[in-house]
Amino acid sequence: MYPPKFDYAAPRSLDEALGLLSDRGEDVKVLAGGQSLIPMMKLRLASPAMLIDINRLPGLSEIAESDGYLRLGALVRHNDVGNSDLVSRRNPTMAAAAPWIADPIVRNRGTVCGALAHADPLGDWASVMLACDAEVVATSASGQRTIPMRDFITDVFTTALREDELLTEVRVPVSGSRTGGDYQTLERKVGDYATAAVATRLDLDEDGRIVGAGIALTSVCSINTKVTEAEALLIGQQPSTELFVEAAEIAARTATPQDDVRGPAEYKRDVVRVFTRRGLATSLELAQAG
Ligand SMILES: Cc1cc2nc3c(=O)[nH]c(=O)nc-3n(C[C@H](O)[C@H](O)[C@H](O)COP(=O)(O)OP(=O)(O)OC[C@H]3O[C@@H](n4cnc5c(N)ncnc54)[C@H](O)[C@@H]3O)c2cc1C
Repeated sequence: MYPPKFDYAAPRSLDEALGLLSDRGEDVKVLAGGQSLIPMMKLRLASPAMLIDINRLPGLSEIAESDGYLRLGALVRHNDVGNSDLVSRRNPTMAAAAPWIADPIVRNRGTVCGALAHADPLGDWASVMLACDAEVVATSASGQRTIPMRDFITDVFTTALREDELLTEVRVPVSGSRTGGDYQTLERKVGDYATAAVATRLDLDEDGRIVGAGIALTSVCSINTKVTEAEALLIGQQPSTELFVEAAEIAARTATPQDDVRGPAEYKRDVVRVFTRRGLATSLELAQAG
């Protein structure tokens, strides 16, 4: 299938890109890795009148740490995350998730910010970012604003981004040295979207008490879902198997999976229960290892 006709622009500066976005409004789509947008255009599920290709914009391909955040620019690809020493040292949840995204070709081209902007409930990065309390930076010709990840995805394939805004960065708070995280996922076959997946994060204080916690679910709710009730249960407690079992029960109760070709709803709910418990146990091990 060929996509319908469209205009194409490949700006070389952020100002130029933002100008085009504000001039052309709703008939414009940003093209990043193209791994979701191009298939949608070929299937005629999207027919933008113009594509703004951001791949030539300078300064958006970096993963860097500054001011207490790990910052990923709009052109950071899935594989950049998987290959980053900085990420593997600073954010185990992201490091665990990166190799599970799609297949090597998609991982080479697709971007983390593109995946967040796409807001597919089967997408993995939104859960990782929810568990890590990330925020996104939305930039337009009239300025910049930050949006907490928990407010960013508002519905299926729908975000809080305005039509004239570009998602220029996602930033993840860097916790103290005693942090651990994990991403547990079940796929029917390698490269497939998750049947069910759970992102976890635990931060410990000097006494081993939990001072920060993140749990988020992929593919088992209408949108990626942060399990705030379980996070609140964990914070302030000494970790224990019983505590993790209780948190896992809350996560399973929060999930609203559907019966489909990937499996029955009750099976998926059970996977969430098991993955939450396992993910928290692995997060604890990593945090205790410092
Ligand atoms: C075969 C296959 C398997 C896949 N499996 C998985 C998987 O297992 N897990 C997973 O999470 N994902 C998976 N994906 C999706 C993949 O991760 C995409 O890369 C991702 O969803 C979109 O990133 P992109 O850079 O390719 O964005 P694009 O396709 O370029 O854009 C996607 C959407 O986001 C918008 N957009 C992109 N960047 C920005 C920006 N900076 N600011 C504002 N809007 C922007 C576009 O306008 C478009 O609406 C798969 C894709 C394919 C083709």
